[in-house]
Amino acid sequence: MQYGAELDKLPLFKKIGSQADAMGLECYVVGGYVRDLILGRPSKDIDFVCVGSGIELARAVSGALGKGHKVNVFKNFGTANIRYKDFDLEFVGARKESYRRESRKPVVEDGTLQDDQNRRDFTINAMAICLNESCYGELIDPFDGVKDLKRKMIRTPADPDITFSDDPLRMMRAIRFANQLMFDIAPDTFDGIIRNKERIRIVSQERITDELNKIILTDTPSYGFKLLYHAGLLELIFPEMTDLQGVETINGMSHKDNFYHTLQVLDNTAKRSDDLWLRWAAILHDIAKPATKRFDKKVGWTFHGHEDRGARMVPGIFRKMKLPMNDRMLYVQKLVRLHLRPIALVKDHITDAAIRRLLFEAGDDVDDLMKLCKADVTSKNDTRVKRYLANFKKVERKMLEVEEKDKVRNFQPPISGEDIMQTFDIQPGRVIGDIKEQIKEAIMEGEIPNNREQAWELMLILGKQHGLTKVDEK
Ligand code: ATP
Repeated sequence: MQYGAELDKLPLFKKIGSQADAMGLECYVVGGYVRDLILGRPSKDIDFVCVGSGIELARAVSGALGKGHKVNVFKNFGTANIRYKDFDLEFVGARKESYRRESRKPVVEDGTLQDDQNRRDFTINAMAICLNESCYGELIDPFDGVKDLKRKMIRTPADPDITFSDDPLRMMRAIRFANQLMFDIAPDTFDGIIRNKERIRIVSQERITDELNKIILTDTPSYGFKLLYHAGLLELIFPEMTDLQGVETINGMSHKDNFYHTLQVLDNTAKRSDDLWLRWAAILHDIAKPATKRFDKKVGWTFHGHEDRGARMVPGIFRKMKLPMNDRMLYVQKLVRLHLRPIALVKDHITDAAIRRLLFEAGDDVDDLMKLCKADVTSKNDTRVKRYLANFKKVERKMLEVEEKDKVRNFQPPISGEDIMQTFDIQPGRVIGDIKEQIKEAIMEGEIPNNREQAWELMLILGKQHGLTKVDEK
């Protein structure tokens, strides 16, 4: 098959081909870029393989592209890359790999194009297109990757047991590609994953999490999670999540399966936002349900406090997953902790005070919280869904109204500790915090509006109550 016309859309390919010709090197574009070109998916990472030194070729290409296209060389890996417009060009010499049992790190030797294609993970990732003049645009597809693209199939070119045992990260990659492309995994490839799942333990957590995040960022992440679950990998890499699975029945009363519910919430969230961390909040919103599950004869199944307990589980899970322990974690934790609040608001009569408290606690993340809450509505009963969503609208309207009036979303105390110390001529101490807290409470409860004059008056009253005297009355 010929892809010359497609390549010509980027003049870059001919330029690289002629540099390789001048050096007497075979040169190909290979891997993910070829796959995506055939699928018509845009792609910004382009991998080039040449039979010879990839680094030397990259240097020549950099010279031909002119100023501003400097080469970054990674000597240890034998690779070099060049930033070209918004493309990342990666150059490597063709290589042959063989693996030892206890490591993901292969023994690498120089090889032919065929050797290089043999070491690639899936048939659809092992295709190459020639860039040399003599065969420009010709597809070299030794494992019938094009057929698998048409059949929408992830398949290993070699024996799956060897492929996955050599580099167990490929099990995660198979599922990630299946999810990104919405492909099936060929039955013998999937069986290979099941048989080799335990080997995932030799892969570093960073790489596992990297793949997991890519799954989470797809359009329908539930599919990837279901594949991970059925392969038996999810239990190994994320047992807290498989603990959510299952339905218990007592006295004819069952609770919902929280694993499938969570996946649906995750898909619903994915429709509303591309944000990885909001999606993590969706994954973790009910994570403490197994730990808080109780059966009560009168009311049936309860999960009291699962939002607080869940929030407390977030740092441990982030640490284990090697996710960032910074404001991202705090954001996820906050959303998990608050995820029931808007629903609780709807159930009660909506008071301004409750709205102010929620705005204060959620701050700028309140819009994301509402997205999560809407995604959390997974009832199959249409009337109920409509009612919930209408109720959320009511809450949102009320939030706008209250925020307009009281500005508590980014609450800054209208009276500072410094104000209090100067007014009463006192040293730092507990009473200052107490007065500030009382002022905040009065604002939240609606006893005074959120402005400096009224807060100042209240400070004077509170000061007196605490036995303090104004400095000019001393
Ligand atoms: P994406 O950019 O969406 O991740 P990609 O296919 O370009 O997709 P990369 O991880 O950039 O993925 O890898 C580039 C190519 O290198 C792949 O297409 C594949 O041929 C090969 N490859 C990458 N990782 C492995 C691996 N663990 N085992 C075998 N081949 C691999």
